[in-house]
Amino acid sequence: MRGVVMHAPGDVRVEEVAEPKITAPTDAIIRLSATCVCGSDLWPFRGVDAVDRPTPMGHEYVGVVEEVGGEVTTIKPGQFVVGSFVAADGTCEICRSGFPSSCVDRVFMNEVGTQAERARIPHADGTLVATPGMPGADLIPSLLAASDVLGTGWFGAVAARTGPGKTVAVVGDGAVGLLAVLAAGQLGAERIIAMSRHEARQKLAREFGATDIVTERGDDGVAKVKALTGGLGAHSVVEAVGTQESMQQAIRSARPGGHVGFVGVNHGVELNGEELFFAQVSLLGGPAPVRRFLPELIDLIWNRKIDPGKVFDLTLPLEEAGEAYQAMDERRAIKALLSV
Ligand SMILES: [Zn+2]
Repeated sequence: MRGVVMHAPGDVRVEEVAEPKITAPTDAIIRLSATCVCGSDLWPFRGVDAVDRPTPMGHEYVGVVEEVGGEVTTIKPGQFVVGSFVAADGTCEICRSGFPSSCVDRVFMNEVGTQAERARIPHADGTLVATPGMPGADLIPSLLAASDVLGTGWFGAVAARTGPGKTVAVVGDGAVGLLAVLAAGQLGAERIIAMSRHEARQKLAREFGATDIVTERGDDGVAKVKALTGGLGAHSVVEAVGTQESMQQAIRSARPGGHVGFVGVNHGVELNGEELFFAQVSLLGGPAPVRRFLPELIDLIWNRKIDPGKVFDLTLPLEEAGEAYQAMDERRAIKALLSV
């Protein structure tokens, strides 16, 4: 079958790879309908993360189940499924407490590689959720978004304790940040401040429910958020980038007693303990427990209440994955969908 393999930074190839096989009785094999390139795939593409051997790529996926192992009970061949970017057993104490992305038996799906025609999904019962039926082509981008970027933006908004009456600020205007704006609106936020300096992304943020746009960054951005909130800062801040500047901006934009949900994969962030002490904010972050939210997100998408698939502004066949990486790297595309 065909699959995407990164050989070195900047060197993404689509080539023949081994067909996946059931290796544990809890596995499923799916035939991908669509997959995509993630902002986090750009870290190795840019050489920030090492690429020390040819690496299968991808961790976002939707598709049709072809085969299941002998111990899989809730997922059946022929079903259309959405799964989390972290496979989890769904039964350990950590899963049952709502954090399947830190399951004691977790498997990060980028270790499997879902930018391919087929993929093995470990822990099928704990990882996959079947849709009510076979979706039309128009729903596939939104269902694919649920696999990571929507689920991650949603977790960011939940971790930041978004809710009715709250002012929410979102740092980062990539797909996750934009979908955190959407999530904040769905969770009832009164005011949503999107921090973005790109016109197309500001427009999408407005469509997703942003009430204010702040174009300034760093301390100027913080000052602007404070000016919009009576000098206090936002109740809830979602951090969706993962750099030193964005983390500081997020923490400084929150009011004392506020909450920061940080969902951008951190790279080289170091926090000052004394500043953190006096900031008096709650921090919760990490890889999003997407599986916790999937049933609700699939329901919202299936009933056409939300359209998170709008973040895909480039669609290419799997064979042209290299161009998809380039377009996202150069910020010509917010997020690229690969049709399989
Ligand atoms: Zn678990």
